[in-house]
Amino acid sequence: MLEIKNLHVKLEDEDKQILKGVDLKVEPGKVHAIMGPNGSGKSTTSYVLAGREGYEVTEGSATLDGEDLFDMEPEERAAAGLFLAFQYPVEIPGVGNMTFLRTAVNSQRKLRGEDELSAGEFLKIVREKAKTLKIDADMLKRPVNVGFSGGEKKRNEILQMAMLEPKVCILDETDSGLDVDAMKLVAEGVNALRDGKRSFVVITHYQRLLDHIKPDYVHIMSNGRIIKSGGPELALEVENNGYTDLLAEQETA
Ligand code: ADP
Ligand code: MG
Ligand code: MG
Repeated sequence: MLEIKNLHVKLEDEDKQILKGVDLKVEPGKVHAIMGPNGSGKSTTSYVLAGREGYEVTEGSATLDGEDLFDMEPEERAAAGLFLAFQYPVEIPGVGNMTFLRTAVNSQRKLRGEDELSAGEFLKIVREKAKTLKIDADMLKRPVNVGFSGGEKKRNEILQMAMLEPKVCILDETDSGLDVDAMKLVAEGVNALRDGKRSFVVITHYQRLLDHIKPDYVHIMSNGRIIKSGGPELALEVENNGYTDLLAEQETA
């Protein structure tokens, strides 16, 4: 389980407080959506959990199955079961997708003290997963993300997620959003990876992704805090009325 308590984060190089007391409890098997206006701190939350540089935790905690995430290096957090799907997938010319995936999987296994997968074992697993996710075998041979379409990059991200078998997946949708087809791919991938134990935190600026990935809980973030939590109906409220009413409600509360 992922548990965030009273998380306060500022920029390392600037006197700017971004997160001002985020609380979130993600139980196994649950899908949480985080919505909120641009600039509210949604991406910062995911970056800080994943261990990206440039941020300083000034107060609060984040644990995964009781282990303090902020005591771990980014690779250790990943090996412990945290996966962040990046907003902007990196292209790695000259490195085949398959090689990249195998290196990623094996380095995590090593950190967990598990045996590395042989080329044969790995191939078997990657083929199975690719098939489940309807990913063309050809994509496995190409250099990582080079010349991939937006949809292919998303598909590849889902494959990475499937191969790493994380406990908690954080997906941060770009503010510009995905086109409808790419969004359906992501949703299908996520739904295929839902197994009753793995949990998801889906960060989205818009409601429409949640038509395809049905969340158990919806949280609204504003100005560095979660100001309201509820069920899927909260996303519909945002869809119909925007954030203005919710934000006003908060100010008068
Ligand atoms: P969201 O994902 O909800 O749109 P972000 O987490 O990206 O919000 O940003 C929250 C606030 O923090 C914004 O005001 C943004 O400009 C600021 N911010 C985040 N990271 C940085 C950074 N590295 N440098 C300067 N400002 C930043
Ligand atoms: Mg933003
Ligand atoms: Mg963002």
